[in-house]
Amino acid sequence: MRWWQRILPLQTAPSKDDLILKRNVSYPGKGVPADPEKADGVMLLRNRISRIFFLRKFFNYPLSLNYGTFANLGIKRVVKIALSYFKINIFPVKNEKNLEDFFINRFGEELYSTFFKDYTLKVWGIPCDEIGAEWGAQRIQGLSITRAITDVVKSLWAKSAFDEQKNVETSLIKQFMYPKLGPGQLWEKVAQIVIEKGGEIHLKHKLTGIKCDGGTITEAIIRDEASNNIMPVKADYFFSTMPVRDLISAFGPAAPEKARKTAEGLVYRDFITVGLLAKKLKIKNMTDIPTINGIVPDNWIYIQEKEVKIGRLQIFNNWSPYLVSDINNVWVGLEYFCNEGDGLWNKKDSDFMEFAAGELSKIDILEKEDVMDGIVLRFSKVYPAYFGTYNQFNLIRDFVDTFGNLFLIGRNGMHRYNNMDHSMLSAMTAVENIINGVKSKDAIWATNSETEYHEKK
Ligand SMILES: Cc1cc2nc3c(=O)[nH]c(=O)nc-3n(C[C@H](O)[C@H](O)[C@H](O)COP(=O)(O)OP(=O)(O)OC[C@H]3O[C@@H](n4cnc5c(N)ncnc54)[C@H](O)[C@@H]3O)c2cc1C
Repeated sequence: MRWWQRILPLQTAPSKDDLILKRNVSYPGKGVPADPEKADGVMLLRNRISRIFFLRKFFNYPLSLNYGTFANLGIKRVVKIALSYFKINIFPVKNEKNLEDFFINRFGEELYSTFFKDYTLKVWGIPCDEIGAEWGAQRIQGLSITRAITDVVKSLWAKSAFDEQKNVETSLIKQFMYPKLGPGQLWEKVAQIVIEKGGEIHLKHKLTGIKCDGGTITEAIIRDEASNNIMPVKADYFFSTMPVRDLISAFGPAAPEKARKTAEGLVYRDFITVGLLAKKLKIKNMTDIPTINGIVPDNWIYIQEKEVKIGRLQIFNNWSPYLVSDINNVWVGLEYFCNEGDGLWNKKDSDFMEFAAGELSKIDILEKEDVMDGIVLRFSKVYPAYFGTYNQFNLIRDFVDTFGNLFLIGRNGMHRYNNMDHSMLSAMTAVENIINGVKSKDAIWATNSETEYHEKK
């Protein structure tokens, strides 16, 4: 976080929405004056609110066992959940074969089918009974009703002050830093610094081949996507954040067959985001948090409604009021998980916007007529999956680690569900290895492999 603030200083004066709402807030930004009303190069400190939308109602995220949850679910469903939970404690699934068994053993059939079954299918595109149980064990360990109850008790004492967040579980963090113009702004600034220091950045250049000699990478073959010119690049060190599947393929026959086969079997989930600019939303702010024009206060909302394909909804006004030119409008982002080339992916942009607005109208989030503008963006390989051949990933690692000057870092680079902080940490660790002459890559691979995991709750 200190590194981020060196690039974009934390705000020292209120944001546009604080001023409009006359919020009485103090900002921890120290040193350089950073007023978001006067300059763009500012990191905002935002409150984090995110909830689950299900049965046309809002539930806490992470889901908590409180009166609100029970009231939203209704007595009939709560009794069913409780009964099926007690039943599974007495008669657990003996041999957990898949993620479905894993969830049912921890939550009971009813809670599983209410909250986990369809959402997991939405996100990963395959049903829970086709995902290995070890995925659950590895990624969502510690998740249990007992844990949920202790979290409720703990949260009564949870502190929200920014500098006291260090030991708070990721999903309970109440505030976060956000560049005034979105995360890309941070990296645009970093790119500018790299260039000022004499570095070169070649965008739209694709790595298509790798040459090696023994345990050393000697050359990367790069294609300029605009001109189709191919150029070899020699370097002392190579860092890769490209998808592991493509990296191994770029080695061609130099990669052993076992590594190649494993890489080919790695699975990814692709992603489409649809931005819609609307005059207003139909859902209203029923919390006691003041907002402009009474819009819901959430940064993002998990959409659990089963009749729509949308997975999450971003409310950009609440990330940064500077992302919307007229703060009286609402700028939302609908997120769709998909597979490259499937029906969603291939939809024409205009059809997709129509479909997306229709989905939000179907679940009573907005009226279609209030949508004024939109944009569709497609991203491939955004979620590296922990199924497919992932359990043989060591065959890839054994191969790539034989090269002293090649470092796999980041999210797709390591085929790991890294967030930005862990992606950066893996890069920093790689550089430290080089500086300190450390040959082993273990410290890099250890990034974000700790047993504590974000999704635990
Ligand atoms: C929908 C979504 C929401 C997220 N939200 C958050 C969040 O709120 N907070 C957070 O911390 N993290 C979040 N993340 C994760 C974060 O975006 C990643 O951790 C981070 O971007 C990973 O950085 P990276 O450098 O490893 O990879 P990337 O940022 O993916 O960069 C990899 C680069 O490699 C390029 N590339 C690929 N193939 C080739 C090739 N053959 N040749 C040359 N270049 C190539 C790509 O074009 C890309 O520019 C989110 C991710 C997604 C998908």
